[in-house]
Amino acid sequence: MIGIVGGGISGLLLGHELMRSGIDVTIWEATARLGGVVSSGDLEGLVLERGPQRMRLTSQVKELIKEVGLQEKVVLGPTHLPLLVYCRGKLREAPLTLSQFATTDLLPFPSKLRVLAEILTAGAGAEETVGQFFRRKFGVVAYENFLGPLYGGLYGSDPDRMLVRSALAERLTEAGIRRSIVWGIWGRTRRNSIVAAPCSFKAGLGALPEALGRKLGKRIQLKHPVQSVHRQGKGWRVVFEEREDALVDAVVLACPAEQAGNIIKNECPEVANLWRQMNYNKLAICHMKSGLELRGLGYQVGLGESLETRGVTCNHSLFGRKELYTAFLGGMKNPQLVESSDEEIASIATSEFEKITGSKAFSLGVSRTQIPAWDLSWKDHNKAQLPEGLFVCSNYAGRPGIQGRIQQATLLSKKLRSLLPK
Ligand SMILES: Cc1cc2nc3c(=O)[nH]c(=O)nc-3n(C[C@H](O)[C@H](O)[C@H](O)COP(=O)(O)OP(=O)(O)OC[C@H]3O[C@@H](n4cnc5c(N)ncnc54)[C@H](O)[C@@H]3O)c2cc1C
Repeated sequence: MIGIVGGGISGLLLGHELMRSGIDVTIWEATARLGGVVSSGDLEGLVLERGPQRMRLTSQVKELIKEVGLQEKVVLGPTHLPLLVYCRGKLREAPLTLSQFATTDLLPFPSKLRVLAEILTAGAGAEETVGQFFRRKFGVVAYENFLGPLYGGLYGSDPDRMLVRSALAERLTEAGIRRSIVWGIWGRTRRNSIVAAPCSFKAGLGALPEALGRKLGKRIQLKHPVQSVHRQGKGWRVVFEEREDALVDAVVLACPAEQAGNIIKNECPEVANLWRQMNYNKLAICHMKSGLELRGLGYQVGLGESLETRGVTCNHSLFGRKELYTAFLGGMKNPQLVESSDEEIASIATSEFEKITGSKAFSLGVSRTQIPAWDLSWKDHNKAQLPEGLFVCSNYAGRPGIQGRIQQATLLSKKLRSLLPK
């Protein structure tokens, strides 16, 4: 039997993979709800996403949707929606393709030449930060107007406090990019790489953990916070707050780093200390309604702008969710912002939206969430050595996106199958 701690998307995907292979599995979730940061609400028929806004319909995602029976519920977004950046007083198109690079006014002409000179620059230094790396390779203007807001925005982080080796190197390798990023992107464009369409479900992304939960049925135990795990013989004893202990062959930690650290602190104090000091960025989310018809995935805010908004998703043009926009505020730039009242956050989000787009918006509600920061506190995260029978499957141990979660769950389930006694 495998015990999984956490019923977020990582734990559920792993549980589902193991169940399909005929392996006995139990998932313990601390709260009364599955999905973790994947959380969708409904306000008078309008879907509000309080975490991730979209997936990409890759072949793996397609297969998963079929397995959990959600084919009829899928909503697809247009494939080539532009991503915008607010910079020098207006929204401008981010150059994600070569044709956008040629036409965008986000980068002045000298900055475009500087970007092309990246081909002549060296690869990353051992202790270089992502900010230093991008500025050295592409110049200050391209960093502040484009790469900084885009890359930092993904995690609500400051790229000057993220190390290339822990926060970027693996992503570049996976994308087949070696020394030159421009050369790598040029190669992909020539090979005509197809971009998978953005997708969600009619009721929002929360439909996915719900469907996985239905498949897993009694293998899931809600309101079961795990307190600690202890080696017992060849297996593990799992201790809960308010019920008797459970015995399993292996434990998979699928909960955030701090909680995982608390759970293993008696068995592996060094890893526990490492995990407990890894920062998460706290984000405030404000759902807004506006008559504006902005076409795009959304916009990020240039680094030089003194605004609290980190980025906004255009749910309206993405999935036809009428007049809906979702703003993300706070993060590493202002972690205290999430402590403000809902009214204060809503007022900042709507007034900044009006400043940026010129259109009025009103708030539909405010929520809060967190995301791994991948900052300097993560520099040793891959040095964690876990004892036999203890594993991790969570967004701080791989690519955080849902696609990355599927890949990690698939790989770990194969490993667990090969380790369990036949
Ligand atoms: C704001 C935001 C926007 C994002 N946008 C996108 C996007 O657009 N596209 C995309 O692909 N990805 C996106 N992501 C990333 C992706 O959503 C997350 O990385 C992923 O959902 C994390 O899943 P997880 O299961 O690893 O962790 P979590 O969702 O954190 O789940 C962990 C679970 O463990 C439980 N738990 C904690 N402690 C215990 C305990 N002691 N015992 C039992 N259970 C416990 C928690 O209650 C929780 O349910 C976004 C993330 C955030 C936060």
